Amino acid sequence: MEDFATVDAKASDIIEQSDNDLETTPGSGIRTGEQYLAGLRDDREVWTQGKRVADVTAEPGMMRGAATLASFLDNQHKDEFRDTVTYVDSDGDRCAMAYQQPKSHEDVKARGRAYYQWAKWSNGMFGRTPDYKNASLMAFASATSFLAQGTKGQADFADNMVKFYDFARKNDKVLTHTLVNPTFNFQQAASGKFSNQVALQVVEENDAGIIVNGARLLATLGPLADEIEVFPSTVLRASDDNVPFAFAFAIPIATPGLKLICRDTYDHGKSTFDAPLSSRFEEMDAVVVFENVFVPWERIFMYGQPELCNQAFGATNAVVHMMHQVACGKLAKSEFLVGILCAIAQASGRDKDLHTKGLIAEVMQMTETVRALLYSAEAQAHEDEHGNFIPLRGPLETSRNLYPRMYPRMIEILQLIGSSSLMATPAEADFANELAPDIEQYFQLSYMESRDRVSLFRLAHDVAISGFGTRQALYERFFFGPPALMASGYFDLYDKQPLIGRVEDFLGQE
Ligand SMILES: Cc1cc2nc3c(=O)[nH]c(=O)nc-3n(C[C@H](O)[C@H](O)[C@H](O)COP(=O)(O)OP(=O)(O)OC[C@H]3O[C@@H](n4cnc5c(N)ncnc54)[C@H](O)[C@@H]3O)c2cc1C
Repeated sequence: MEDFATVDAKASDIIEQSDNDLETTPGSGIRTGEQYLAGLRDDREVWTQGKRVADVTAEPGMMRGAATLASFLDNQHKDEFRDTVTYVDSDGDRCAMAYQQPKSHEDVKARGRAYYQWAKWSNGMFGRTPDYKNASLMAFASATSFLAQGTKGQADFADNMVKFYDFARKNDKVLTHTLVNPTFNFQQAASGKFSNQVALQVVEENDAGIIVNGARLLATLGPLADEIEVFPSTVLRASDDNVPFAFAFAIPIATPGLKLICRDTYDHGKSTFDAPLSSRFEEMDAVVVFENVFVPWERIFMYGQPELCNQAFGATNAVVHMMHQVACGKLAKSEFLVGILCAIAQASGRDKDLHTKGLIAEVMQMTETVRALLYSAEAQAHEDEHGNFIPLRGPLETSRNLYPRMYPRMIEILQLIGSSSLMATPAEADFANELAPDIEQYFQLSYMESRDRVSLFRLAHDVAISGFGTRQALYERFFFGPPALMASGYFDLYDKQPLIGRVEDFLGQE
């Protein structure tokens, strides 16, 4: 196998091909869906099903996800949503709310309302809406004193970040991110080291920037994003070996040498009746391969300092703002699950059944747990060291540690209650062929006509059984990283000493 450190990158060739200007047009701000789709028609290298995609906005299996996100961007302009999901900046430009630096309790709550609104457009089923990355970018751009510690030679990393934030904010860019190196060997990964053969690393540095080679997991929305943040994984051991793996930068998806290798699509071209979620919310995941990719200094925010990279998300409080966005999205998603379960129970009269009610109550309680944690975090918002107001971290940490277990249980309950009805799902076309009388007769429920019943269970199927639904469950399990590592981090952060002290006091120990 090839060791990337030995690849002879031709920096000058690559620099000439690269268009990395961080332009900020005066009078700009939120884009329309059409503007977003036009931006995706570039020279990006996206691969699916054995072929290179010519245009992601026209590619079956991707284009309906792109159209959905375009419709969400259009929503930003509508009277009923505009004041919730956008704000007007000091230049008078209307920008996405997640970019606003929160300076009060009320600002934190306004961000929460915007996140929740974005999530409700898909009922949480389009996970990677742009507000997630926007929130993180806002936090990084606020933490200039932290980023300035890494400044190297001529490159002013804090200034780079502020300029990139303004560029993304004023141009309403859609971002994805990739944080995780592929695991080549578990022992190596567990000891905080990476493989030269697979992990993304710097192979050359020159006056204009750096050249990187290797792969990263996994860019959700990658093919449908404008830009990709390539930020540090949080488990770098602070050693010289890890210096080539320590960096944070952002580049356009259409950067030469950047390839996205997609998983199979879950949008098989079915009608919205037949596949209510996968026909609309296919956000696509892709492994990202970097082949001698040139990154100019202006787009680098951290470099060559593993210890600093390890602190990046915590020290900037980006993780808190990201967890806030996520908790709002999970609330919208959980509420939708409760709605589906109650609709199913009501249609058959099982809403009077003790066992069914008990199972649905469990989902309701999980939903209310997320709501309570979110409320607790927002109500205890406080000013941070970067001059922003942030929700209290503890409740959001609890929510993000619980949800990877809650969501699979919600899906299990939907399977238990849905049972064989999740399979009794004739297609929309069967309502218009010779089967129609049979379907009208045999698929009805005491409180629901056949067509509505099939429609409801097709939705439940797409949530709990289909490829789309199964991927959603995997997504929730691994959203913020391996659950064992997350729990270990939670343990470390928890304020344990006062509680140990109480035990010692009780026992009369020193
Ligand atoms: C649908 C989906 C979308 C994703 N989207 C993105 C994205 O947009 N951007 C992005 O950067 N990443 C994304 N990811 C990747 C996600 O961050 C990783 O899956 C997650 O961090 C786990 O890493 P891994 O998959 O390499 O699993 P591994 O680290 O290989 O873990 C595999 C198993 O081993 C366990 N394990 C791992 N390390 C240890 C340890 N030290 N001790 C004990 N047990 C351990 C884990 O708990 C897990 O059960 C996505 C993943 C999925 C499934």
